[in-house]
Amino acid sequence: MLATLTEPGLFDSDTVVSETSWTAALLAAGIAMEAAETGAFALVRPPGHHARPRTAMGFCLVNNVAVAVRHMQAEHGVGRVAIVDYDVHHGNGTQEIFWADDTVLFVSLHQWPFYPGTGGPDEQSDTTVNVPLSAGAGDEEYVLAFDQKVVPAVERFDPELLLVSAGFDAHEKDPLAQMRVSADGFRELSSRCAALAPRVAAILEGGYNIETLPGLVTAALEGFSSEKTTAG
Ligand SMILES: [Zn+2]
Repeated sequence: MLATLTEPGLFDSDTVVSETSWTAALLAAGIAMEAAETGAFALVRPPGHHARPRTAMGFCLVNNVAVAVRHMQAEHGVGRVAIVDYDVHHGNGTQEIFWADDTVLFVSLHQWPFYPGTGGPDEQSDTTVNVPLSAGAGDEEYVLAFDQKVVPAVERFDPELLLVSAGFDAHEKDPLAQMRVSADGFRELSSRCAALAPRVAAILEGGYNIETLPGLVTAALEGFSSEKTTAG
């Protein structure tokens, strides 16, 4: 359906599409695949983590991180992949795609209750770990939750590759959510992610303050690479 659009329209109430959306979605997913191969940060839009197996949702057309996981498993001999999603929203699409797949661990930190409504404290499985956080959480709460919930889950799973769904809408100046994470917080979370697997790559998800977004991406990049340096 996306591939055959001939004019702009709305896929759902907040997902705008046009005749060039399919090309944009293919480019984003392709760059996510390349980032997973090379250990890079895919700075792409549209984002992906709300996209469900057969439908676009919440600004997301194609689930970029899911495409990258399947590409690495199908073409590069990677078995176990962990996804850590620190976008402020729950990655419902990613969760749904991998819910019944024990080769992929999905861990999400997100504001809850909040859009899209999923990812509550009771929504867990062997390879799905949801860490809902109350509105107003900042660096301290995020880092504590990361150390208490994310680190043990990923260490237990022992992934060959970790992909980060890196959204920056938990930042204190983001217009869409109510969290208070700072640039230092994103650097810290990213550095912790990098320490959890032998290979790490990141894919941009949300982040809706275009004035702060570049600095936050830079802070995350510093976090991803600092840990690699100290770990040798
Ligand atoms: Zn988001």
